[in-house]
Amino acid sequence: MSTMPTPGAVPPPALRPPADGECQFCGSHPAAHVSFQSMTSIVILYVVSAQRGWMCRNCGLSLYRHHANKTMLAAWWGVGIIGIPIFLGIDRLRLRRILRLAPPQPTPGVAASLPAPLDPGKPLIQRPGAILSIVLVTVLVLVIGCGALAFGASE
Ligand SMILES: [Zn+2]
Repeated sequence: MSTMPTPGAVPPPALRPPADGECQFCGSHPAAHVSFQSMTSIVILYVVSAQRGWMCRNCGLSLYRHHANKTMLAAWWGVGIIGIPIFLGIDRLRLRRILRLAPPQPTPGVAASLPAPLDPGKPLIQRPGAILSIVLVTVLVLVIGCGALAFGASE
C-alpha cells in the first residue's frame, strides 16, 4: 500500500514549540512571562525553588497555588519563617499579571508538553498549607497573648 500523499493534498503544517507570548506548558495564548517561587526551610537551611517562563491564565494560576501552598507547608520549620510573608506577597503581586489574561485559547500548529492548560485546582484557602498556616498563626497569637496577660498580671 502506498503512503504517497494524494496529488493536490495540502501537507499538514509542521508543529513548532511554544514561542514568546504562548504558554510554555500547554502552548495556549495569551500568556504572560512570570515567575513563582516557593521555599522549604529546616532549622538554619532553606531552599528556594522557582518556575519562570510564559504561562497562560490556567497554568499560571495552578503554579501560583502550588508554590504558595508549598511555602505555607514547608517554610515554617526554620529560618525561612521570616520569608513567608515576603514570598507570598511577591508571588501574589506577580499573579496579577496572570489574572489579567483572557482565558487560554489553543494555538494551532504548536506542540507543547501538555495537551491542555493545567487545572488551577482548589483555591489556596482550601489547601493544606493555608490550613496549617491558619492553625500555626492562631496558636502563635494565643501563646503571645497569654504570655502578655501573664506578664501584665505579675506586675
Ligand atoms: Zn498553559
